[in-house]
Amino acid sequence: MISKVKESKDSIYDLSLIELVHFVDSVGEKTFRAGQIFKWIYEKGAQSFSVMQNLPQEFRNKLSEKFSFSLVKMTSQQVSEDGTIKLLFELNDGEHIETVIIPSSKRLTLCISTQAGCKYGCKFCASGIGGLKRNLSCGEIISQILYAKNIIRSNKNSRDISHIVFMGVGEPLDNYDNLLKAIRIINSKEGLGIAARKITVSTCGLIDEIKRLSKEGLQIELSISLHGYDNESRNILMPVNRKYPFDELMEACRDYIKETNRQITFEYILIKDVTCSEKAIKSLKKAFKGLICKINLIPYNQVVEFQYAKPSKQEIQDFKKRLNDFGILATLRALRGGDISGACGQLRHK
Ligand code: SAH
Repeated sequence: MISKVKESKDSIYDLSLIELVHFVDSVGEKTFRAGQIFKWIYEKGAQSFSVMQNLPQEFRNKLSEKFSFSLVKMTSQQVSEDGTIKLLFELNDGEHIETVIIPSSKRLTLCISTQAGCKYGCKFCASGIGGLKRNLSCGEIISQILYAKNIIRSNKNSRDISHIVFMGVGEPLDNYDNLLKAIRIINSKEGLGIAARKITVSTCGLIDEIKRLSKEGLQIELSISLHGYDNESRNILMPVNRKYPFDELMEACRDYIKETNRQITFEYILIKDVTCSEKAIKSLKKAFKGLICKINLIPYNQVVEFQYAKPSKQEIQDFKKRLNDFGILATLRALRGGDISGACGQLRHK
């Protein structure tokens, strides 16, 4: 009889610390070993059990039989004039995702993907063009970070990753469980040790998951991709608004702020003749009344498949000033990695 193809091992990057504790316990080892293994992986960057010399040999063998260290596979790397680096990864099933390393004077931000493709089909965003392929596993989310860390490590002058933003391909809150598991690995001191306040989750506005997130007791940053200024304009730009309408979303944001005592940042895309009209200013003033928050204005980045254009510099400045004059803290997002299609909304598989 032909023997069955050997089943692939589980990725060690899919395990939370507590899951690893359970595994360690189930094979009769002391539970503190789980913390040792996490340290090797996330602090020292180990990519095999054989280097973990403070673990008994027999135990290392058991671990090797059960778990693999397979990272996402990089297929291309592009470096922008401004230092931004875009990494294209191929997953085991041939799907592609992208990760962007964004250095600035004070931080090093990593922008990571949570899904291959996206099902929300926002009318200005390249990620939704082919629809959703699938969710990324926790291990695939984490391994984008470990891979980027290796690249950063090889550049001796570079600082380590200081911030993580879930603003790559996909809708993070549509992959809730894997996202949360990954965030806890990123955040925990035995894991990557990145403070929750330096982790940003961006969402197109999934109200049920925003509610759920408010109860997690995490100090992370929440970013809402608003983009429309009222129900009608948001319906046109973001089909998700039909399920979660503008006013209900704003209400959910107010509840989130109350529940978590955290601020929210709203992302607002500036599209010529679409989102920066007089009417938009009026509606935003109404929607944001009494809300302590920040609006991050993002000039539309050209996506060849869409007809939109970005406003002039003057229009952008005027829009920002009008909001600021009203007392809404509006900032302008700098374009990074534009020459390598690494900027917001341009990430997609060719
Ligand atoms: N699905 C999540 C995470 C993606 S974040 C979300 O919607 O928030 C990517 C950010 O880039 C979002 O704010 C998105 O709306 C914005 N974006 C998408 N396409 C863009 C474009 N063409 N120009 C500027 N920003 C864009």
